[in-house]
Amino acid sequence: MPLRDVLESLKTDVNEGLSTAEVARRLDVYGYNELAEKQETPWWKQLIAQFQDFMVLVLLCATLISAFLGEYVDAITILAIVLINAILGFIQENRAERSIKALKKLTAPNAFVIRNATLQHVPARELVPGDILVHEAGDKLAADARLVSVNNLEIEEAALTGESLPVRKICDRHFAEDTALGDRKNMVYAGTIITRGRGQSVVCDTGPHSEVGRIADMIQDVGDEDTPLQRRLEHLGKLLVWGCLVICAVVVAIGIFKGEPIFLMCMAGISLAVAAIPEGLPAIVTVCLTLGVQRMIKENAIIRRLPAVETLGCVTVICSDKTGTLTQNAMTVRKLYTAGTTYEITGSGYDISGDFLRNKQEFEPRKDKNLELCLITATLCNNSIIKQNNVAITGLWRKKQNSGWSIEGDPTEGALVVAAAKAAIWREDLEKTLRRIDELPFESERRLMSVVYQDQEMSKFVYSKGAPDTILDLCKSYWVDGRELQLTDDNLQSIRKVHDDMTSQALRVLALAYRRLVPTEKVDGSIEHDLVFLGLIGMIDPPRDEAKQAIQICRDAGIKAVMITGDHPNTAIAIADELKLYELGANRALTGRDLDAMSDQEFNKIASKVSVYARVSPAHKLRIVKALKQNGHIVAMTGDGVNDAPAVKEADIGISMGISGTDVTKEASSMILADDNFATIVAAVEEGRGIYDNIRKFIRYLLSCNIGEVLTMFVASLVGLPLPLLPVQVLWVNLVTDGLPALALGVDPTEANCMRRPPRHPKESVFSRGLSRKIASRGAQIGFSTILVFTGIYLLRNDLALARTMAFCTLVFCQLFHVFDCRSENYTIFELGMLTNPYLLLAVAASTIMQLSVIYVPFLSNIFATVPMTAFDWLIVLTVAGWTFILSLLKHILRLARGSVKPVAVKIR
Ligand code: ATP
Repeated sequence: MPLRDVLESLKTDVNEGLSTAEVARRLDVYGYNELAEKQETPWWKQLIAQFQDFMVLVLLCATLISAFLGEYVDAITILAIVLINAILGFIQENRAERSIKALKKLTAPNAFVIRNATLQHVPARELVPGDILVHEAGDKLAADARLVSVNNLEIEEAALTGESLPVRKICDRHFAEDTALGDRKNMVYAGTIITRGRGQSVVCDTGPHSEVGRIADMIQDVGDEDTPLQRRLEHLGKLLVWGCLVICAVVVAIGIFKGEPIFLMCMAGISLAVAAIPEGLPAIVTVCLTLGVQRMIKENAIIRRLPAVETLGCVTVICSDKTGTLTQNAMTVRKLYTAGTTYEITGSGYDISGDFLRNKQEFEPRKDKNLELCLITATLCNNSIIKQNNVAITGLWRKKQNSGWSIEGDPTEGALVVAAAKAAIWREDLEKTLRRIDELPFESERRLMSVVYQDQEMSKFVYSKGAPDTILDLCKSYWVDGRELQLTDDNLQSIRKVHDDMTSQALRVLALAYRRLVPTEKVDGSIEHDLVFLGLIGMIDPPRDEAKQAIQICRDAGIKAVMITGDHPNTAIAIADELKLYELGANRALTGRDLDAMSDQEFNKIASKVSVYARVSPAHKLRIVKALKQNGHIVAMTGDGVNDAPAVKEADIGISMGISGTDVTKEASSMILADDNFATIVAAVEEGRGIYDNIRKFIRYLLSCNIGEVLTMFVASLVGLPLPLLPVQVLWVNLVTDGLPALALGVDPTEANCMRRPPRHPKESVFSRGLSRKIASRGAQIGFSTILVFTGIYLLRNDLALARTMAFCTLVFCQLFHVFDCRSENYTIFELGMLTNPYLLLAVAASTIMQLSVIYVPFLSNIFATVPMTAFDWLIVLTVAGWTFILSLLKHILRLARGSVKPVAVKIR
């Protein structure tokens, strides 16, 4: 349809957009702009799934048989324990799933629309037909829409048409109804990506009615990814199952051979298998990962893919953009050079008060025509707006207060608008007599932006700004006092000298140029030539304070920080120097041009030494990631623009910017920085290391406890002792010790030295660095302690019930003492501080109360066949179970007495 008909039939207006009330009405009619979600599994099915574990089913069958044989109490108890275990498992899994869902919501797409005549950023699911969309390069389209205006708009429609080359779009034509999707150049479709240019469009179809909605079934989300660790643990789990089953079978066989009742032995074997198989491990790992992810959100790092949490702990290089990530992205113009004179500009931030100084003297800027033309060019070749307290400020406004200044649009351009405003030059005033007729947008590859304006006499002018090297290459003459003079080598040399002066003071420098077009000249992409050089403009963008600290932390943690920027090498090195990221002699700085001149092999050789890359374009980033990976590094790489996406995707941890990032980069990334801040990356790495440590902690705990349980039963049966623990007791040990204490280890605070050790190798096993030895030795200790108590009491006092009760308690308390050791592989629990993980204290207290209740509550003690223990019995149990703990406490007291105790070794959140 012709555009007018489209707008009419959708009852909308390009400038006003829809009203809030109309949007609400249309949402009712058309529904949300989202594809039908996959059917969710109902909660009861998830609960039932908990019982589908093979060993649990066997246990349930056996319980049923025991009920038939009249063992009601045992049957009910076992059933209750299995039920509680299942509910705990269900809660854990449910919680993990809910937080994964919440994460997905956090990263849901947004869109820019015009509604109630203002530009708004709204969730893409709330779009309705008739909404006016505003597009920029890097956006992913959220609905099908008819283009209203375009400016070099190019769209990659591979998702829909399979064609990977971008399609150039138009808006002023319409096509026959049967035109193929790929040829409908006046339309844009949901799911496609804007690779270049700008545009506006009116939404025609949303959600299931869009083209992508019609094929939605084909592109339903693939399942959630497991992390490498989860996959390895699953594998380990299978091995353990078989191991346990074999041992249990041996225990049962020996028991039966010795004449123990067959049924009791079978129940014992099955209970042992259920207790020893760490079925809760994968769920606890997921809970631990997702809880960590939630903590990261609080620190402004949003994880998009769970495996990233693990990889974070292995990162060896962080490649970061400079502007906005290492620096504040709050630019202020400090210097301006034109016609042989350098001016200074005072003021700070985006506040529009400030003065112009020439030779340190204040003067009236509009009286200097050279300066005036520079500022006019800077403000015309510009799309940013200054705001005070969120209200757009134009020339008509009088300043009332000093605070609340901000910028909408590119901060570099914002700084230019502010500088011009200090001389009372406003785009809105200039546009009363000048009309913008074209724009060649800024692109990182071109480092250049131009606009074309027409005045009332119909003369056309191109105003350009960009990186000085780029602009100077396009200039033939320079401007001085109203004349355009030929640019000689001498002129160029003095301009370059001023430029180098500015950049070495860490200023970001842009050059300004203009040209009057020949009346017959066509306005297209080839007008940027024979420009007249106007001047240089230098702005500061101070480094972020927290970035400096974060780089120091990286150094201690064996992580290399690398700056990658489109800015000039001098500026980049000056800032890197301030951040202590670059040291002359120790590190190298390369430019994009150096990179182009090098072969892959040459570059691979030096890639590990380079700390600063300047004047690089996004395509170089991919080469940098690949070279670093070749060198064995685990690379984190930030990106914001649409062309950064390949590098972000290639990196081990792709990081996109929450504020300045495009949809495409966000989608390619595994982590989003909500505050675009370098320090947040480092905080996330620390969190990643802490999470991995915690996973190791509860693996150590669970496996050593399970080994202890299996050994107790196995060795006792080998040496011909009666069953040391009854089936219900074994199941109870599993319930008391595996659940809460293991979970509490999962939320243990990070050790203070976590960022003072080198990164972990990604292929490293979870059991490396002596963990398997620790697990085996502690498992053996737990098993033999239990057998020791059992044998001693059984032989000396000839009381099987008491021997079993004491063995039962020894096994439980061995584990409850052991859980404290598992908090650290480097420090004792007393160095860490008992109180630094209150959850663990609560979990141990709860487990202790549960254990005491099965001994002292008469009803329960009947069920669990326990007998009361005397104080002396307790002394034996606690000494055997906790001697290492007691020893370590005594040592700590000694050290306290000597005054040689170090401060708490954990980071309290
Ligand atoms: P980073 O990658 O650290 O964010 P950057 O922001 O400096 O670096 P680009 O935005 O690619 O990188 O800018 C590269 C160069 O292009 C700048 O040094 C500047 O000279 C020029 N430039 C930046 N913004 C604009 C703009 N809006 N218009 C014209 N030229 C610009």
